[in-house]
Amino acid sequence: MPTIITHPVLPLAMAYGAGRTIISTRLLLAGTIASVLPDLDVVAFRFGIPYAATFGHRGFSHSVLFAFVVACIGAGMSRWLNSTSSRTFFFLFFATVSHGVLDAFTTGGLGIAFLWPWSDARFFAPVQVIKVSPFGVSRFLSPRGVAVLKSELLWVWLPSCIVMVGMVLTRRLASQRQ
Ligand SMILES: [Zn+2]
Repeated sequence: MPTIITHPVLPLAMAYGAGRTIISTRLLLAGTIASVLPDLDVVAFRFGIPYAATFGHRGFSHSVLFAFVVACIGAGMSRWLNSTSSRTFFFLFFATVSHGVLDAFTTGGLGIAFLWPWSDARFFAPVQVIKVSPFGVSRFLSPRGVAVLKSELLWVWLPSCIVMVGMVLTRRLASQRQ
C-alpha cells in the first residue's frame, strides 16, 4: 500500500480541482475517509487470516463492489454531506476505488481483488512504480521509508497536483468566458 497520507491525495486533488461549491467540506472529509477505508482489512493479519484469502489484505475491501457499496451508503447520506446523491455517489466511488488502483501500482505484496466476488484473482497494474510502504510506523524513519515517500511524491502527489492545477485553470477560463 502507499502510505495512509498518500491515499487521500487523489480525492483531495479532485475536490480542490472541482471547487468547493461542487464538493462540500463534509463530502471531502467523507472522501478522505473512503480513500483509506479499504486498508481496515489489515486487521485480518491479527485474526490469522492469510494475505491471499478473500478476507485477507487487498481482498474484498479493495474490490470495485466494495467501492460501489460505500458510494451507495454515502449517497443515502448525501443531504447530511451537503451534496446531491449523484455527486456524493461518484465522488465516494472515485475515492474508494482509487485506493485499490494506487495499491495495484505498488512494487510489493499481492495484487488487488478488484473483481471480488466474481473472481478471487489478484491484479496488478501493467507497471509497478510506487514503492510498497512498510506496515510499522517506526520503519518510516529508515532509508526504505524515505524511498517510499519519494516514490509517492513522484508518482502520486506530483501527477495529482498537475491534474488539480489543470482543473482549476479550466474552471477559471470557463468563468472568465461567461
Ligand atoms: Zn490497500
